[in-house]
Amino acid sequence: MTDYPDLATLHGVLSACRLCAEAGYPIESQPIFSGESTARLMVIGQAPGEVEAPAGQPFSGDAGRRLFRWLARAGWEEREFRKSCYITSVTKCFPGRRAKGAGDRVPGAAERKLCRPWLEGELALVRPEVIVPVGRLAVGLFYPPKTRLDDVIGGSIQDEEGRHIVPLPHPSGASRWLNDPRNVGRVEQAIYRLRTLKMELRL
Ligand code: SF4
Repeated sequence: MTDYPDLATLHGVLSACRLCAEAGYPIESQPIFSGESTARLMVIGQAPGEVEAPAGQPFSGDAGRRLFRWLARAGWEEREFRKSCYITSVTKCFPGRRAKGAGDRVPGAAERKLCRPWLEGELALVRPEVIVPVGRLAVGLFYPPKTRLDDVIGGSIQDEEGRHIVPLPHPSGASRWLNDPRNVGRVEQAIYRLRTLKMELRL
């Protein structure tokens, strides 16, 4: 469900969203997303990072390069994928770096709740046949609470609306999950599942 009549109208209002800043959260970019209402596949990441913030394009940094290497093996060249698929995230503004330690700050539950209606609107207006949630926050939108990545990566489900959900881990080079060879095998299965869906659905 969404209050917006079409995706262009939603994008216009979303682009001006400052809800998190108004609520006191230290976001450091404008909302970042890409794609058209004709997209049949939607990728949902966690949040833009510090490379995406100035680029204004999702998955532009090192994590994006790894994601596009996976997608290339499923049959999508990056330029073709960016043109034909929709890319968004659980929260759409760069949340800044962690106060301590390396890496980006993970958006908190309150920020995710503020941003959720935008994602609901994108899903309602794009109506993707395949959804690829990337990373724990996005995967958690489609599976029961406390679901482990080990239990779902490599498989896929079809939800009540008939959408194929094919989860992937966060493609960050810092991901400890990906250091386990068994998990690398799970990613291989996920790539194979995407390649199969691409052929079956003629994506
Ligand atoms: S993260 Fe989402 S809710 Fe928060 S300001 Fe950006 S677009 Fe708005």
